[in-house]
Amino acid sequence: MFKRFLTYYKGQLHLFVTDIVAAVTVAAVDLAFPQILRGLAGGLFTEGPDAILGVLAYIAVGLVAMYALRFVCRYFVIYWGHVMGARMESRMREDLFDAYVRQSFSFFDRSRSGDLMSRLVSDLFDISEAAHHGPEFLLIGIVEIVGSFVILLTINVPLTAALALIACLLVAYNVWANVRMRAVYTENRVRISGVNSRLEDALGGMRVVKGFAAEEQESEKFRASNDAYLESKTRMYRAMGRYQAAIAVMMGALNTVVVVLGGWLIARGQMEAADLATYALYISLFTAPITQILDFTETFQKAIAGFRRFCEVLDEQPQIQDRPGARPLRVSEGAIRYEDVHFAYEDAPGEKDDEVIRGLTLDIRPGETIALVGPSGGGKSTTCALLPRFYDVDAGSITIDGQDVRDVTQKSLREAIGLVQQDVYLFDGTIAENIAYGCPDATAAEIRLAARRANIAEFVESLPDGYETQVGERGSHLSGGQKQRIAIARVFLKNPPILIFDEATSALDNESEQAVQESLDELARGRTTLVIAHRLSTIRRADEIVTIEGGRVVERGTHEELLARGGTYARYYQMQFA
Ligand code: ADP
Repeated sequence: MFKRFLTYYKGQLHLFVTDIVAAVTVAAVDLAFPQILRGLAGGLFTEGPDAILGVLAYIAVGLVAMYALRFVCRYFVIYWGHVMGARMESRMREDLFDAYVRQSFSFFDRSRSGDLMSRLVSDLFDISEAAHHGPEFLLIGIVEIVGSFVILLTINVPLTAALALIACLLVAYNVWANVRMRAVYTENRVRISGVNSRLEDALGGMRVVKGFAAEEQESEKFRASNDAYLESKTRMYRAMGRYQAAIAVMMGALNTVVVVLGGWLIARGQMEAADLATYALYISLFTAPITQILDFTETFQKAIAGFRRFCEVLDEQPQIQDRPGARPLRVSEGAIRYEDVHFAYEDAPGEKDDEVIRGLTLDIRPGETIALVGPSGGGKSTTCALLPRFYDVDAGSITIDGQDVRDVTQKSLREAIGLVQQDVYLFDGTIAENIAYGCPDATAAEIRLAARRANIAEFVESLPDGYETQVGERGSHLSGGQKQRIAIARVFLKNPPILIFDEATSALDNESEQAVQESLDELARGRTTLVIAHRLSTIRRADEIVTIEGGRVVERGTHEELLARGGTYARYYQMQFA
């Protein structure tokens, strides 16, 4: 894991080295300043004021040069150090996003989008903070702690021994407090993610919220999680306050000891007054990095945890992968065959749930339109999802023109299958971009033709911006029927030989249903089509009806045949349409 972390420094090595050099220079300047002061004060006593005046100009020039150097180095550390961290973060974010989109459906089934988001945003921020502050703080810290300790020893040994003792107490307290604070911080993070998911939930389901006039109920739920967040924040600040106060007490004790013990040593002639002043200046150089490094352990731990989670995703092998030597699918006719298929979803990787497809066998002839009907939860959508290999069958096989879908490349397989989902997803962008989704090379003429065939061209061309109209987030500027037809135009442009259509149940009014239906009929012509059918008109129009119940095909035939048989379909028909 550490090695992988180091690889992200690659390409930033020049920044890393310069950052470190600059950080050490800053520490060196900080260490030098009290020494100069000490020299000056010492000179004042031994040589007298005139001698001081003689060298003051040199000291002034020296100090200006020193602080100019410190300024440049500090600027570098702040600016380029952060840029280095940000660049590493950006590379990690790209890698993580690529790893996300590579994953199969099972991964997204078990992941929460809020969690995936926070890995991409806050985890990586912590990592980047640690990536550049870590080495820099540690180096500055070590140089300052060791340097000032050695200098303190040369000034006065007994005083430094007392100081070291209190410093040990400080470290011990810090370690103890950090452990306690971590629990508070963790709780705080849990609470904030609670607030976020409440928000996500309410915004995502705003139609339902409004539809049920449940605004107050939502506000109430939100208030509860917001209150919990506030409480945990209050606890966090209390812990922080105690911590800071305790540190202040120890620093006060330190100063008191130094002044009292120092005064005693001066009175006994064992220490110069100027040395005591210098000593006091070095104390903060000695203690500040200690607390800084200890404070930083929190960020550091978060970063380690974050990087571990990052590696988890990067190392997760997508469940669906091309077999070695997989060849592109060649569709000659478009015949589909499901052969004794069994399938169960997974609760967790490797942990199968109960089977939802139990020995399903189905032959679909080239160019035929099959309506899948049956009770909800019977397995219609799952049957369709297995064809483009969104999931792999556990037993049995699915073939297209005799080629097992697991033996062909995923790309060619998915290119051969057009999907029209019930829940149409439009991407933020223009109508043209949405129609050409997945076909970035499509010409304007091709896009127009696809729109015409999907019955949407007239509407689009009547808009002031035409095909360049922005659809809004998830297509919020368009009606359900318009979105559906844009999705159909997308498939026209892709022109696949096989089609899966998940029919919208009730989202469309009669008029748009008519328009969508016409464009679908046009689309289905000459293509092998599976429709998860909810409307009688669709069912009757299909070449054949297949009833799926309990993960099996229980009946198959035309509408009239199945009605005459008086089986499951007839019952379903009675319940839904008669
Ligand atoms: P239908 O389309 O006939 O309504 P589905 O194929 O959607 O049926 O569902 C079949 C069964 O599989 C149901 O019991 C459903 O709860 C379950 N199921 C569907 N999708 C998932 C999923 N992504 N993860 C786990 N179980 C699922």
